Amino acid sequence: MMCELCGKDVTFCKKVTIEGVQLAVCSECSKFGIESKKAPEKEMGPIPVVTQRLEIRNLRAKPKDVLEGMGKDELVEDFAERIRNARSSKGMTQKNLAMKINERQTIVSKIETDQMRPDDKVIRKLEKELGIKLREKVVDTQVAKGMSTSALTLADLIRMQKD
Ligand SMILES: [Zn+2]
Repeated sequence: MMCELCGKDVTFCKKVTIEGVQLAVCSECSKFGIESKKAPEKEMGPIPVVTQRLEIRNLRAKPKDVLEGMGKDELVEDFAERIRNARSSKGMTQKNLAMKINERQTIVSKIETDQMRPDDKVIRKLEKELGIKLREKVVDTQVAKGMSTSALTLADLIRMQKD
């Protein structure tokens, strides 16, 4: 059987009305049938809505992802103090500590005086060695203050559009 619209050889043809003419067409061509004649705008209608929704969803997802990304293991603000206190309470010198965590004393000194932020590796070693916590899960509101304003503005815009 041949599709009367595209000419493809198919086993089954649907009878549809296209532009007022009844044709036996393949399943692929049948979508150009009755539906498109009856209400072309209905066919077009849902698409922008879906696109819009997907866009909104994506925009929503982005700031959230950023928040989640930033929400984990944030170095505490008073890390220098915490390290200093923990070290002295254990009776360790900066040199002792530096040796234990395999870093140079100058690194420990800089971290303890807030001149340097320890990287993740050093943070983990300090936490383990001193038995303290230097990272905290930052809650959304705290993170929000530090995150890019553009992402927030975007999220706010979407919220406003929705309401
Ligand atoms: Zn066809």
